[in-house]
Amino acid sequence: MQNIDNYSFLGKKALIRVDFNVPLDVNLNVTDNTRIKAAIPTIKKVLSDGGSVILMSHLGRPKNGHEAKFSLSNVVDVVSTLIGVNVKFATDCISEKTLSASNELHPGEILLIENLRFHKEEQQGDKAFAKLLASLGDVYINDAFGTAHRAHASTTVIAQFFPNDKMFGYLIEKEIKSVSKIMNDSEAPITAIIGGAKVSSKIIIIENLLNKVDTIIIGGGMAYTFVKAQGGAVGNSLIEKDYIETAKRILEKAKTKNVQILIPVDSVVADAFSNEASTQTCLTNNIPDGFMGLDIGEKAIAENVACILNSKTILWNGPMGVFEMSKFQKGTEEIAKAVAKATSNGAFSLVGGGDSVAAINKFNLANEVSHVSTGGGAMLEYLEGKELPGIAAIQHEHFS
Ligand code: AMP
Repeated sequence: MQNIDNYSFLGKKALIRVDFNVPLDVNLNVTDNTRIKAAIPTIKKVLSDGGSVILMSHLGRPKNGHEAKFSLSNVVDVVSTLIGVNVKFATDCISEKTLSASNELHPGEILLIENLRFHKEEQQGDKAFAKLLASLGDVYINDAFGTAHRAHASTTVIAQFFPNDKMFGYLIEKEIKSVSKIMNDSEAPITAIIGGAKVSSKIIIIENLLNKVDTIIIGGGMAYTFVKAQGGAVGNSLIEKDYIETAKRILEKAKTKNVQILIPVDSVVADAFSNEASTQTCLTNNIPDGFMGLDIGEKAIAENVACILNSKTILWNGPMGVFEMSKFQKGTEEIAKAVAKATSNGAFSLVGGGDSVAAINKFNLANEVSHVSTGGGAMLEYLEGKELPGIAAIQHEHFS
């Protein structure tokens, strides 16, 4: 398998699948350039070797061809400023004009092509469309982890047209290394912290993790289905009735595999799903009727923090409570701080998937963990143990 560091891009046109799916305000200005910044190291490597770059991405969810609010023309200036190169723009991704623009690129130049999803063939994984895209470059780099779980034309199908010239960019390489560090190469004790609203969305991850970790800390809304499965009284807390049996099965399986499952002993409970609700702390298995658990309590925080500080490898996915409301953020905040502290003590920590990333950002601790994943859905599927098509397309020599 080719590697971006060992490859010379001298005189080559590198076709890079980036993730420029950035938020825009009503005036179509980019409001958060994190994803663009994240793509810069890969782009700069190609340019500094003496190559040129063709950037392709999707933006938003256009339904029916071209729509101004989803045009990548809205991001050209930001890309130019951040890289310090005047980026050219092609108003379509597969037209003759675009092909000429790519042919005319000189070393050091960058061409951004229009939103791939203006063509329905992108998401359909159409081979002819992928072939047209492939004709724009000499070498293909996938640096879009956020779409690696999709078998789209630009993320997966295209790789077959570059059997000897395909590779990951720096961003995706770091994501892969971080997850495999957790899944295949971790130092014990290994702790997974799984929170968020529902058991149903995390069940496959939890089952997969039972084969890998020493402890699973359960938090968030899903904890109450587990407490119910153990026969506790959970008042009006979020419960998924259809998953009570599943929760029982997980608890049994954990026992046989010698995995410790930490379910919060106490909870902050409220009489309404509101920051103005009246609250109290009580044992999670004895929540009064009319009250719902919206955060983990002090005892649970202490137990979880002790476990986290004793861990050498930590995976965190999903908040411990309704951290968006100040009254119920403490559990998530204290867990975030503990993960940061364990990291400074030498543990490896990966925060990935959905709201835990929002939480770590809220508490300004993103720089104090080993890796914050950029790909929500892709990270979840990776943790479920699935092979991501965008990754397989690069890793396997013959992939079609
Ligand atoms: P997820 O996308 O599954 O990670 O769920 C994240 C959401 O779960 C956040 O918006 C939290 O507010 C919510 N959440 C966390 N704890 C609870 C809880 N105890 N009850 C209801 N919702 C919760």
